[in-house]
Amino acid sequence: MRLLIVEDEKQLCDTVAKSLYDAGYEVDTCYDGETALECILAENYDLIVLDLNLPGIDGLEILRQFRTFNTNTPVLILSARVQIQDKVEGLDLGANDYLTKPFHFEELEARIRSLTRRKFIQEDVCLRCSRITFDT
Ligand code: CA
Repeated sequence: MRLLIVEDEKQLCDTVAKSLYDAGYEVDTCYDGETALECILAENYDLIVLDLNLPGIDGLEILRQFRTFNTNTPVLILSARVQIQDKVEGLDLGANDYLTKPFHFEELEARIRSLTRRKFIQEDVCLRCSRITFDT
């Protein structure tokens, strides 16, 4: 399971990455918006933890661009923005979850487990045998 953490507070980013690595995930980190966009375009992650206030490209803009070509990969916004309109905008742009700072690591980890578990629910599965197709 491979995760990307986008967070410009390096110490927080590295602490979260280390904790998730210890929990058994492969973890990449990005400290700014431009690098984050390059990473998500180049790599195939199982989940992205995305900060909103970032140098370079804003987290919501990253999310907007990402969702134009990838609607499957779960995105968890982890932000100090606590306003309802920020949460609504983030979720409407295609985030799957929104956690505000400060946060408990146990909760972040539980939400990551929840979001990556959902990935295993398969959609639009068609079984084919010769001329017979079974749409599950
Ligand atoms: Ca930030």
